[in-house]
Amino acid sequence: MDLTILGSSPATENAGGACSGYLVSTGHTRLLVDCGHGVVSVLREVTELKALSAILISHMHPDHFFDLVPLAYGFLFGKVPSIPLFLPPDGAQTLHDLAAAVRLPEGFFERLFQISTYDPTASLRCGEVTITFAHTRHAIPAYAMRFVHDGRALFYSSDTAPDHRVAALMQDADVALVEATAPLYSEDSDSATIHLDAPSAGRMAREAGVRALILTHTWYPVAAETLSLGGEAFGGPISLARERSVYRV
Ligand SMILES: [Zn+2]
Ligand SMILES: [Zn+2]
Repeated sequence: MDLTILGSSPATENAGGACSGYLVSTGHTRLLVDCGHGVVSVLREVTELKALSAILISHMHPDHFFDLVPLAYGFLFGKVPSIPLFLPPDGAQTLHDLAAAVRLPEGFFERLFQISTYDPTASLRCGEVTITFAHTRHAIPAYAMRFVHDGRALFYSSDTAPDHRVAALMQDADVALVEATAPLYSEDSDSATIHLDAPSAGRMAREAGVRALILTHTWYPVAAETLSLGGEAFGGPISLARERSVYRV
């Protein structure tokens, strides 16, 4: 299983980057996981749209789904056959409301994608990959995901503050892709109650027995500190997600 970073930025794009987006690939399956702003441009550098198998969205914050609009136009202009779009339980209404607010044609997304909502208490099979979920601690309902293929496990935190359900899903993952968004040096921010910082991400991954850690959703101006503090807390192989990087899981 391969993980390609399409977007590693937090709620605003770092220079030359994109917001949350990841490609999870096996021999016959290509899953687009999250589709924040800027993701489509990078996605099209690394794969043709018609090669995608399905799309999964972890939660309905703009930096995780706003590029569904240009992605849908890519499917329309490219005459790409419709693929499944799996949204969180509250996702269909949000997508419908967005389409209405910006006056997209009636049924715009429904014509281009096979839209459904996933059940976070069940497992989901997408091609060769099995996905399980955990509710995270965030400002809106959000779901961490664990991708398993051929005995290998990739964990993705989505957005979360420290949470035992997220930690349980991360247990013994071969590779964990974990957000480290919370400002490192700001004491007046609410973000620590809905996001992880690098030390807490590193600590969670160490306690979960993760073999390799990738920090993402990070703010480049504090990249060096993020990596160093995360590495200290994790004590194992660690890297910072960067657009276009590919990891073998
Ligand atoms: Zn979020
Ligand atoms: Zn986010």
